Amino acid sequence: MACIFCSILKGEIPSKKVYEDEFVYAFHDIDPKAPIHIIVIPKEHCANILEVATDSDMMNHIVKAIQVIAKQEGVDAKGFRVVNNCGPDGGQTVEHLHFHLLGARQLTWPPG
Ligand code: 5GP
Ligand code: ZN
Repeated sequence: MACIFCSILKGEIPSKKVYEDEFVYAFHDIDPKAPIHIIVIPKEHCANILEVATDSDMMNHIVKAIQVIAKQEGVDAKGFRVVNNCGPDGGQTVEHLHFHLLGARQLTWPPG
């Protein structure tokens, strides 16, 4: 089954990389909802947060990446938001686990 984010990982679809390590890749969202809008994904395909094996280190690597990216992008001091959309009601459109890192503006609450 075709997965857009797996195609990005293979380089078949171009992306603007902001971070990469052995387990994680991060790139600018194609349709940014804030001045900083970065998508953070595991290199290993996983459909959504319900499918994450809790005995794996995947989430640790994701959190590490978010910490590095927040500092790299200069949003660590003022703050930012990390979003995971899961399933239809959550608004998930790409079925490869991903975390949105949004910042560089005042974000409102609640989300839509
Ligand atoms: P979701 O709605 O699943 O939580 O988020 C998917 C995100 O992926 C959206 O914000 C969308 O703009 C982004 N996106 C979808 N296709 C592409 C693409 O081909 N390249 C990039 N850079 N972002 C994409
Ligand atoms: Zn995938």
